[in-house]
Amino acid sequence: MTEEVKSLILVIEDDQQTRRLLKTNLCNRGWRVIEAENGKSGLSLIKSDSPDLVILDLGLPDMDGISVTKRLRQYSDLPVLVLSARSQEQNKIMALDAGADDYLTKPFSTGELHARLQALLRRVMRTTSNMEIFQTGELKVELGRRRVFIADNEVHITPIEYRLLSILVRHAGLVVTHRQLLKEVWGNEHIHDQHYLRVYMGQLRHKLEINPARPRYLRTEVGVGYRLIDDEVG
Ligand code: CA
Repeated sequence: MTEEVKSLILVIEDDQQTRRLLKTNLCNRGWRVIEAENGKSGLSLIKSDSPDLVILDLGLPDMDGISVTKRLRQYSDLPVLVLSARSQEQNKIMALDAGADDYLTKPFSTGELHARLQALLRRVMRTTSNMEIFQTGELKVELGRRRVFIADNEVHITPIEYRLLSILVRHAGLVVTHRQLLKEVWGNEHIHDQHYLRVYMGQLRHKLEINPARPRYLRTEVGVGYRLIDDEVG
């Protein structure tokens, strides 16, 4: 997919080398880029320049990425892609739970970077266009009518399975954390009941996947959550 509109991306990252790498890559793809070296100036650029998307490093000199995410979520629904080092696993999950949309672990490939950005920008398009039908591969979900099909055959799923699936569909291509899913489907009092997810995701996979042990659509992100693979963004 190519972008019709040149999106403005804000990169908040203190490491100059990573910033330069991102800028080169994004500009080559036709995106416009603005940069901030710390959380404070990043937050003020969000207000002054209204970027379409933010790439946010978790380790910043003045405040961490989790705090930046929490602050900006108070007034903005802007898509946020978090950059994390391997040692920041727990911070990454906290940033996602605070409202970041997805993450990339350093070092990342340009392929991964672009797939994540495409998924994020599509999420925005879907939100604004009120998507009725989602389709990827042989999986089709009719959101208005709450119906699910595999290769045009209707699959009967329970209300809870449907709620789980529809959350993943709304975030297609993006990771959704265990906590987010548990909170949205079962409520705040069950955010630690990860076995619910294992049971219901298992059931969904049996209904939707050719090989539930090697899922094509409903991927596990170990220690983080689940991701519905969207063919359109790779
Ligand atoms: Ca850093």
